[in-house]
Amino acid sequence: MTINVLTLFPEMFDALKHSVTGRAFDGEIVNFRAVNIRDYSKNKHFKCDDYPYGGGAGMVMTPQPIFDAVQAVDSEHSCRRIYLSPKGGTLTAAKAKELSACGDLLFLCGHYEGVDQRAIDLCVDEELSVGDYVLTGGELAAMVTIDALMRFVPGVLGSEQSAVDESFSSSSLEYPQYTRPRVFEGLKVPEVLVSGHHENVEKWRREQSRKITALRRPDLIKNET
Ligand code: SAM
Repeated sequence: MTINVLTLFPEMFDALKHSVTGRAFDGEIVNFRAVNIRDYSKNKHFKCDDYPYGGGAGMVMTPQPIFDAVQAVDSEHSCRRIYLSPKGGTLTAAKAKELSACGDLLFLCGHYEGVDQRAIDLCVDEELSVGDYVLTGGELAAMVTIDALMRFVPGVLGSEQSAVDESFSSSSLEYPQYTRPRVFEGLKVPEVLVSGHHENVEKWRREQSRKITALRRPDLIKNET
């Protein structure tokens, strides 16, 4: 699987070179490439933005460098092309899982006031949002999406079970987790977790998971039925 990112700020993606995602790149489980859109600009000053037609605040990313960068990447290997955008469908665990099984991916990151609509019309299969708020650029949104989807790629997580048990994997939030010491600042680890009784531990975890989901995210339970 290759993940390509088209951005004006490729150095921002250095953040993915650490921890779980970094190990997946090192182990070549996933190939990662950040492409600088500016390298494809035919403007003599490598400009990639201009004033919006019709007026208004801010600058808009011009279509030519994006179009050429997408063509260059896509001609090497056909990708599912996603534009990170507040106008897209919302990223969920189910969506992350779907993307993890899509083969090669291309993420287009907008900046400033966004991207000329013709670049979206010509180059993008899908728009994806990371939530109902506006970021200054698509880079953080792309990183969130890449991190979330990579957890579903076989071999990326130490234990395959990790992604199975977690919050949202079955329309519920995860139970509370504890580690050593058994008492911290007067607070004890629940007795059942140190009982060694696996069935009771599982039962306790299921109950806790149900309780916390009903309290904090009743919508998840409603959507399941
Ligand atoms: N003018 C645009 C609007 O109102 O819809 C917002 C542009 S935003 C300042 C700049 C870029 O950040 C966008 O082109 C997009 O790539 C990215 N972005 C902002 N918010 C996002 C979100 N919630 N999800 C995904 N990408 C987002």
